[in-house]
Amino acid sequence: MNNTQVYPVKAFQDNYIWTIHNQTHAVIVDPGDSQPVLEFLASRKLTLSAILITHHHADHVGGIMNIIDNCNVPVYGPKTESIPKITHQLVEGDEVRLDQLDLTFNILDIPGHTSGHIAYFDDQRVFCGDTLFSCGCGRIFEGTPPQMFQSLEKLAHLPDSTEVYCTHEYTLSNIKFARAVEPNNSALADYEHLINFKMSNQQVSLPTSIGFEKSVNPFLRCNEPTVIQAAQAKTHETLSNAIEVFATIRKWKNDF
Ligand SMILES: [Zn+2]
Repeated sequence: MNNTQVYPVKAFQDNYIWTIHNQTHAVIVDPGDSQPVLEFLASRKLTLSAILITHHHADHVGGIMNIIDNCNVPVYGPKTESIPKITHQLVEGDEVRLDQLDLTFNILDIPGHTSGHIAYFDDQRVFCGDTLFSCGCGRIFEGTPPQMFQSLEKLAHLPDSTEVYCTHEYTLSNIKFARAVEPNNSALADYEHLINFKMSNQQVSLPTSIGFEKSVNPFLRCNEPTVIQAAQAKTHETLSNAIEVFATIRKWKNDF
């Protein structure tokens, strides 16, 4: 087990800029803003080693310029998206070695939310940007429902123990939708109690885990009879496969 910790630096309304550190060195993921990151690094006397980017949206990349003006470090990001100041362009199968933190991340291509979205994973954690959320998934802005479904399947095939670091605090509102899809899922009812408690105590709901998400996240449960039935009741059609179920509940969530 690696000796690093992960800390959520809060930004904007509900973004987390995940900061992985070993008390000396730090790596940050998706710095949409620079000021809270620079303040956190200074307050903990951490030296920045690298910046990891999952996709090109402004609330994930907006802080890069100002941060590298202060500390000139490599910036890793997806090869197929236009992002300022990227020094290392990544595609699925690539590796990111962060020697100062004794970490190596592998890359997955997970298109759908954006067309070049990537995830960083090792045997303990995955940083998946705006693709997988707790009890939800990202909106499909640039890809197609089959692409997004396959991207979520890739993430679901990581080991159940993998900690999932998503970029937004959307868990409670996602649970409300998930409860509409699966009102009788008792794991989901328990989760709602837990997250209500955490939110009313100003706690962070994340990370979640791949194994747990498979029990509560409707977008990872498109083969479950309860989710299929709920999707069919919504469209009044017979849905013949999990991708159609996924596309139906994604559309349902857009209007929820
Ligand atoms: Zn995004």
